[in-house]
Amino acid sequence: MRDRIRVAVLGATGAVGQRFVSLLENHPWFEVASVTGSDRTQGSRYGEAIRWVVPGEVPAKVAGMTVRASDDPGDVALVFSALPSKVAAEIEPILAARGYVVCSNASALRMQPDVPLLIPEINPDHLDVIEAQRRRAGYEGLIVTSPNCAVSAIAFPLAALHAAFGLTRVHAVTMQAISGAGYPGVPASDIQDNVIPFINGEENKIENEPRKLLGSVEGDQIIPALFIVSAQANRVPVSDGHLAALSVELRRKATIDEVRQALESFSPPQEVRDLPSAPARPLVFHSAPDRPQPRRDRDDQNGMAVSVGRLNPCPVLDYRMVALVHNTLRGAASGAILNAELLVSRGYLEGKRALADVRAGD
Ligand code: NAP
Repeated sequence: MRDRIRVAVLGATGAVGQRFVSLLENHPWFEVASVTGSDRTQGSRYGEAIRWVVPGEVPAKVAGMTVRASDDPGDVALVFSALPSKVAAEIEPILAARGYVVCSNASALRMQPDVPLLIPEINPDHLDVIEAQRRRAGYEGLIVTSPNCAVSAIAFPLAALHAAFGLTRVHAVTMQAISGAGYPGVPASDIQDNVIPFINGEENKIENEPRKLLGSVEGDQIIPALFIVSAQANRVPVSDGHLAALSVELRRKATIDEVRQALESFSPPQEVRDLPSAPARPLVFHSAPDRPQPRRDRDDQNGMAVSVGRLNPCPVLDYRMVALVHNTLRGAASGAILNAELLVSRGYLEGKRALADVRAGD
């Protein structure tokens, strides 16, 4: 029996925060010990403050907790942040300085050169900058971030192709689900029977984050990879699941069979495959001409699989394909939980306070 680690969920009342609370209910390593919200909900009981929008019931233990201020998560070792970016920019560094391990879904600190933008199956070596981050910022704790939800979809095929052939140019057109806008999000009267060809700030993230994700650690910093990305983001009337249509130009020319082989053989390191939330196959290649689809494929392997299909030659660049991710699971809460599991397995939580008195199974 191992001790579980007491964690807080910051922004626990929102769309992603609720996913954290739900996913952590029976987690073997983590125990939700505190939840936070804005002035709107602070001081209320969690079960009364929220409108629960994820499947299942509010976990009974969390329902009875009092919502705390986000800069005061209490006696926990690790915080999962689902705060709005502006709030995260202010609060996450304060918490890291106080000794908390921060696993963030917010965009605020993603592009800092000594803050890992982490997908454990793709760039676990980026944790090598943590010591430099601590030195630079004087943190007793640390910060790691998860990528933008649409980037989580395209990162997997891009990682497989960049490793095999190198990438030079990428064009991405996304079709993003309503839940990506948080809760209550986009008004039904705007999105029903419609496509909105604008998501504030999204194209910039899709153009920059993949380059950092696939970059390399040099000294104290992560240096972005050299390919360029052009992105167009659209909001579509789908509840969950971001789809991205990609065209890629390869540095070393390859046949379509070689490209398919590179996608199908994507395989993470054993240390990541052993983590509790790791899917058996993080990149699932589909041969059927009409897959992947959000409704059919987003929940594959508990929403942790990225589904790739429609691989074809591209008359403009080299190859085109479609990638799908569950935006609030792999693209947000589950992805951040996998990041936290990697930090635990690498020993970053050793010696932290609040390694709970809570016993697994309690
Ligand atoms: P959301 O549904 O709007 O939830 C926002 C949360 O932040 C709520 O818990 C809210 O608390 C809290 N909050 C708002 N203002 C605050 C303040 N001034 N101080 C403290 N807490 C405050 O948003 P979301 O979709 O869950 O997104 C959360 C974060 O994850 C964002 O940074 C977003 O970009 C990122 N993200 C979202 C997705 C996605 O698919 N939705 C995917 C990846 C990353 P109250 O309810 O108490 O007001």
